[in-house]
Amino acid sequence: MDQALDHLVNRAIAAQNQHQVGSLADGFLGERSGFARHRGRHKTRSEAAPCKRRNGTLENAGGVAPQRASGGVIDQDRLAKQRTSLYVTSVAHKIEVLRERLRHHEYLYHVLDAPEITDAEFDALIRELKALEAAHPELVTPDSPTQRVGGKPREGFVKVPHSSPMLSLDNALGEEELRAFDQRVHGLLKPDEACAYVAELKMDGVSMAVHYREGKLAQAVTRGDGSIGEDVTENARTIRSIPLQLKGSHANREARGEVVLNRKAFEKLNAEQEAHGARLFANPRNAAAGSLRVLDPAITASRQLEYFTYFLLDGGAPVHKTQWEALEALKNLGFKVNPNSRRFESIDTLAAFCKEWEEKRDSLPFEIDGVVVKVDSVEQQNRLGWTAKAPRWAIAYKFPARQEETLLESIEVNVGRTGAVTPWARLKPVNIGGVTVSRATLHNEDEIDRLGVQGGDRVLVERAGDVIPKVVRVVRQGEHRMPFRMPRHCPVCGGEIVRPEGEAISRCINTNCPARLKESVLHFAARGVMDIDGMGESLVSQLVDSGLVKNVADLYRLKLEDLVELERLGKKSAEKLLANIEVSRKQPLPRILNGLGIPFVGERTAQFLADAFADLDKIANADEEELQRAEEVGPKVSQSIQRFFHEKRNRDLIERLREEGLPFKYQAKRKAGGPLAGMTFVLTGTLPQMTREEAENLIEGAGGKVAGSVSRKTSYVVAGTDPGSKLDKAQALGVKVIDEGALRRLAATADERSG
Ligand SMILES: [Zn+2]
Repeated sequence: MDQALDHLVNRAIAAQNQHQVGSLADGFLGERSGFARHRGRHKTRSEAAPCKRRNGTLENAGGVAPQRASGGVIDQDRLAKQRTSLYVTSVAHKIEVLRERLRHHEYLYHVLDAPEITDAEFDALIRELKALEAAHPELVTPDSPTQRVGGKPREGFVKVPHSSPMLSLDNALGEEELRAFDQRVHGLLKPDEACAYVAELKMDGVSMAVHYREGKLAQAVTRGDGSIGEDVTENARTIRSIPLQLKGSHANREARGEVVLNRKAFEKLNAEQEAHGARLFANPRNAAAGSLRVLDPAITASRQLEYFTYFLLDGGAPVHKTQWEALEALKNLGFKVNPNSRRFESIDTLAAFCKEWEEKRDSLPFEIDGVVVKVDSVEQQNRLGWTAKAPRWAIAYKFPARQEETLLESIEVNVGRTGAVTPWARLKPVNIGGVTVSRATLHNEDEIDRLGVQGGDRVLVERAGDVIPKVVRVVRQGEHRMPFRMPRHCPVCGGEIVRPEGEAISRCINTNCPARLKESVLHFAARGVMDIDGMGESLVSQLVDSGLVKNVADLYRLKLEDLVELERLGKKSAEKLLANIEVSRKQPLPRILNGLGIPFVGERTAQFLADAFADLDKIANADEEELQRAEEVGPKVSQSIQRFFHEKRNRDLIERLREEGLPFKYQAKRKAGGPLAGMTFVLTGTLPQMTREEAENLIEGAGGKVAGSVSRKTSYVVAGTDPGSKLDKAQALGVKVIDEGALRRLAATADERSG
């Protein structure tokens, strides 16, 4: 890696006039310690003028040495041209060097799980690349690491046929059926012909095919019905373990695999869903499927999906002679492959492997629901062939569902950290697959109705997908049944419990409910909300448990002596934390609104409300009709806002925050600091996919300005078909002309590692 980079860097520098380009390359490279050590080799540094950075873009700070022309005349024009072309060439090199470096670190982090640099360092590299690309949109390519999230939300997904059918597999339930499969295989091969198998853990996710043309990511297609899937390319691009460019290959390839969400990410996602009053996902597979098929790639990007591959094809057929080689090749191309795959020459050891994982499945960070067994040799696979539905050379060894029957003693409720009141079943303890289960979730009132379950019934309980155990069905009704009724008041704080119309979940609406408080504080302090760095889960727990924080406003009254008494918080960290809290006082109204944790009011809605009302008091006092004047605010959201501000405790909290001097007024303004900040655009002609209004929104949303006429101050002219005189003027003035694609890439906003 470093050698390849060295080569590029050396070329960039050696190929150019040292005085002119060396300064640029040096200024850039000097910031990265990894490169700094190679710098001494080039003499350019001491001679070159230093490179200045302004507004995140690199500028050639007079790197051109005056020519000692013998005639005494300096050809300024020629010099200027030379300077421009050299500048662009060197920028192209720099961009490529940065991209290589970023790809390498993405691979280390997302595929090998072995990062070598911190997230902050990674983000700094991304920002650096974005700045360069913003100054040179003509150099932006779809495989640049900045282009993970570039596409816009779409209306629907295009149907795409698969290169060859993505068939489902037959199942084997238990060892006996696995051995029967082995018998069938041998029955179809020659007598005494050896047959090796590859066993791969069957990850519980969503199948997807990813196509590469000349080594670059071209298309991603969901399994669909097996013959035709949906084009989810823009969403798949956001999955960091999917390389945008194959490692060391420019071939046409298709990688098939499974999009999965690990348990941790799944739990985090559901906690967020709950916090925002959104539907919970039943299991990681549903969550992965839902995340892959959302219309907005930015949402996919935020979900921490991973992609594990298991087939490598070209033109719908395997590239390698064996499955085992294919797995190796996938790894070498930069894909993630489940490390627990094994090759077996005997059915006995294979069966033992399946049994072993049936017991060890809980030790993995992912859900698995079985083991996929494939005949290793592709030549044998071809001879074995397919039935109408499935290949004869592979089978899915399924782990049995873990269910047991027991007595449901009573139905109780639990107040979650976000106020959601969730009914659960108290069970007579029962052993299910080695785990003693004494409670199971019942999700919500609708689920209880659907099951028709009451206290005293005999029920079947399942540890499904290893999430929380659930009640599958009533086996026998009890003699003395106790129907469930949702309590009206919170069992923790006595606050009102409300189930909004059309919602499945009931909630305690008291923000100060101790059950809710920790989550409220965490949400308030979170990155992107009030940005109080250092306010982690264990600290918040201590603050709430010790009584120091009874609502989020109390954060602003914390003193150093309070904090240093807490466990594991040194004086230095306490001082730092206080400084961070102090800084957060200046967060603008949309952040505060989001921080309050009003159900259905997330970042986006908070922004729209602030834009529309510009004043927290006006929002708090607005009636439903007024509230609905804000963008995207409908009856559900406006009711939720009203209910929130109606609660006395919440009004008290608002007064406390006012006393602390948080800004309740807001001046709606263009987003500052977006990728297009400081740039002016002129639109001309018809763009292929966007209306003029959409293009304007895109530009302004990313911090840019749209002007009506071209001048020297215009940064870019965006030209579509049938452009007018503006295009001529742009050319006359030397203003850069770009197309819709370049504009989109320029405006792409997601540059965080995990979204
Ligand atoms: Zn409560």
